[in-house]
Amino acid sequence: METTFYHNLTTTSLQGELLSDVCCEKILIAPEIDLLPLLDAAYQVRKTYFQNEVQLHILNNAQNGYCPEDCHYCAQASSASVDIEAYPLKPDAEILAEAERAYESGAYRYCIVMSGRGPSPKRVAHLAELIGTVKERYPIEVCLSAGLIDIEAARALKDAGLDRLNHNLNTSETHYPKICSTHSYQDRMETLQAAQTVGLACCSGVIVGMGEGVDDLIQVAKALRQLEVASLPVNFFLPISGTQLTETPTLTPDYCLRVLCLYRFLNPRAEIRIAAGREHHLRSMEVMALYPANSMFVEGYLNATGTATSRTLQMIEDAGFTIKTNRENLEQLEEKAKKKGDVLLKELKVLRPRMESNA
Ligand code: SF4
Repeated sequence: METTFYHNLTTTSLQGELLSDVCCEKILIAPEIDLLPLLDAAYQVRKTYFQNEVQLHILNNAQNGYCPEDCHYCAQASSASVDIEAYPLKPDAEILAEAERAYESGAYRYCIVMSGRGPSPKRVAHLAELIGTVKERYPIEVCLSAGLIDIEAARALKDAGLDRLNHNLNTSETHYPKICSTHSYQDRMETLQAAQTVGLACCSGVIVGMGEGVDDLIQVAKALRQLEVASLPVNFFLPISGTQLTETPTLTPDYCLRVLCLYRFLNPRAEIRIAAGREHHLRSMEVMALYPANSMFVEGYLNATGTATSRTLQMIEDAGFTIKTNRENLEQLEEKAKKKGDVLLKELKVLRPRMESNA
């Protein structure tokens, strides 16, 4: 493909214009489109809005398991028979201690994640108070993922100081019934619209590799563009034995990188985060993902562990990127990983480190 093709991708994206579905499909699968110039074209867009910075996020799995929903990919789903460490919402002191730890470790954003369909009004009031305390004590951005939320709940959380609400679309509207039967794509969309209505920034992303086609990935990227999401996590599916979706996707590093490039072109100003599955599916090409994406999770994901943080930090530095942090001196975190099942599942002492240290 001629160099003008790649150049046009960058300029079209920077000018805020939409790529056609045909062009998007080509980016994902056309063999005549070479990966290196494609990555460079996406990098030009990334660099315009985020320079060479990488934002690091730490997830706090504040409530694990006990979920009535049946998302087919999820170890916490009611339909799953996975030996996870289930626990109800952590005590406030534990969540606050983990916020402090995230702040001290140099994380830019602290993400509180709860399993479940959505919080009750009483739980929303509790979360609002907790978020207010975190924001009072630590200069760290706070993101909450708590399931389906209506306008009143979104407003209460925003008033408390919440910076972002996470609710992933995960896959296209067409493909959604194949990955969940207890709630719909529209339910998820309404949660994001509620957040938007009250002026709360949205974080919403995708899981690549759940049996969808390239057209589904294009649809989701365009839906997220319409929502003007501030943050867009791109997960690469890791099947967990005991869930309904156990087929290992045939994702190549080349394809995963093309997906990240496409998402960058279609969502030029979004913080695009390389999320779960990066280690497994990108393999030796993982560092290349930093060219289209500008954000990463460290310390693993919800139930699965990730690469040691020190290795991730080294990779970022080696590639010439800098870490956007809330502290001058970034402390390196300890490596935590232990094999359990077919993916590395987190142990209770990792999910609830405070409880362990107080025991
Ligand atoms: S993804 Fe969330 S809502 Fe779906 S089963 Fe898992 S915890 Fe429940």
